[in-house]
Amino acid sequence: MEVRVRYAPSPTGMQHIGGVRTALFNYLFARSRGGKFLLRLEDTDRTRYGAEYEQNLFDTLDWLGIAWDEGPDKGGPYAPYIQSQRFDLYRKHAFELVEKSVAYHCFCDVERLERIRTIQTMNKMPPGYDRACRSLTGEEVAANLAAGKPSVIRLKVPLEGVTRFTDAILGDIEWKNEDVNPDPVLLKSDGFPTYHLANIVDDHFMKITHVMRAQEWVPSTPLHVLMYQAFGWVPPTFCHLPMVMGSDGQKLSKRHGATSVNEFRSKGYLPQAIVNYIAMVGASYEEGRDMYPLDDLERLFSLEHLNKAPAVFDYKKLEWFNGQYIRLLEDADLAALLEPFLEKAGLPMDAVRQKLPEILPLIKERLHFLTEAPEMVSFLFKEPAVPPVEELIPKKLDRERTKAALEAAIGFVQKAAALDHETAEQLARDTAEKLGLKLGDFMMPIRLAVTGSRISPPLIGSLAALGADKAVARVQRALAERF
Ligand code: GLU
Repeated sequence: MEVRVRYAPSPTGMQHIGGVRTALFNYLFARSRGGKFLLRLEDTDRTRYGAEYEQNLFDTLDWLGIAWDEGPDKGGPYAPYIQSQRFDLYRKHAFELVEKSVAYHCFCDVERLERIRTIQTMNKMPPGYDRACRSLTGEEVAANLAAGKPSVIRLKVPLEGVTRFTDAILGDIEWKNEDVNPDPVLLKSDGFPTYHLANIVDDHFMKITHVMRAQEWVPSTPLHVLMYQAFGWVPPTFCHLPMVMGSDGQKLSKRHGATSVNEFRSKGYLPQAIVNYIAMVGASYEEGRDMYPLDDLERLFSLEHLNKAPAVFDYKKLEWFNGQYIRLLEDADLAALLEPFLEKAGLPMDAVRQKLPEILPLIKERLHFLTEAPEMVSFLFKEPAVPPVEELIPKKLDRERTKAALEAAIGFVQKAAALDHETAEQLARDTAEKLGLKLGDFMMPIRLAVTGSRISPPLIGSLAALGADKAVARVQRALAERF
């Protein structure tokens, strides 16, 4: 049987790491099995819907290279793939369940439902509908409908027994029916379906074979299984993905750092790094291997690689991957990616374009993400501020020795800018030794004086890129202004 999976987001917020991970695993599963990956917009909640979120969904998946075979823009054999365009189908199926006596009209108004909730809260009872309308007679229902009383349609959840399903990742799951949401609404009084109804009807008609989604949907799944039974349909295989946690073991949220893909994107993360890292959150592939480009994952992926246990999202690890993928880029591609960030930082772009090929190999080795670049290279284009004296003095040195080191540095800087890297490095070591200094203590004040920053490319390359005259002038300026 052909594997058919879907990513079914509700466009009610920016795409976040968790959502994209669900999309990615579905995509990889389809690709690895020669199946189809669908994108379906679950936009039934019109109050929380936002066109900008929908756009962000398309943009994000495009940027990451997660392509769908059927979807809102692409069409496909079961179009439309937008729930708000399928309301007639849901309505028809809700009424079909009423016909079959596995669902019923409920006429309780908001006031009554609120009263029930207040009583339940006061008595510390679990919340839920009290099933009052479940026992209305056929005549009572007909009379209410004829009188034009607004109604919703609720599912008759069995009062006893258990509902079971086997999750492809989590194993056997059993739920007492008495613990399932008592008679959830399937169709609202305005004719809009709820998530549960629309989701099940679509998965059935779109011939979804595996429902792979976040673990937070596990508690809804017994209800979904009951709905498949009510319709007389075979449920798909459920595969619930382990939760993504922050380092403190709590569900990943803004408290832990960036969660929307846009935030990572504007910080200068590469899509390759995000894909590689999130494919590893809660999954393991080959022993001892970290780098998995998307096309390798497409071949390698299988459900057996997914862990049951919750996964921790490690921001540092993602940063590491980003550095790795930056280093894999061709210089010209990296330059093109850096341009918007350098421009945004207000650097003179003509000069930047001229200088970038020379400086790129230096910063490529050090970047974790692209937004670090402006700070690293701006000393080439702008006169940096001279750092305060306490920053210029290395921890183990005092003012006098730092001054002497910087004075001796003038000769070194003058020569180093024109020497090849190795000779310049030897000269640095010799000069430091003559002064009785560790190499680092000799170099750091020079770096700070010349670049104004601790985060700069390797010093010798920086000196060459800046040119001897400017570099010497900056050391002199630091001496004059701070010592
Ligand atoms: N629309 C739901 C969501 O936004 C889909 C859940 C599911 O995959 O069944 O997460």
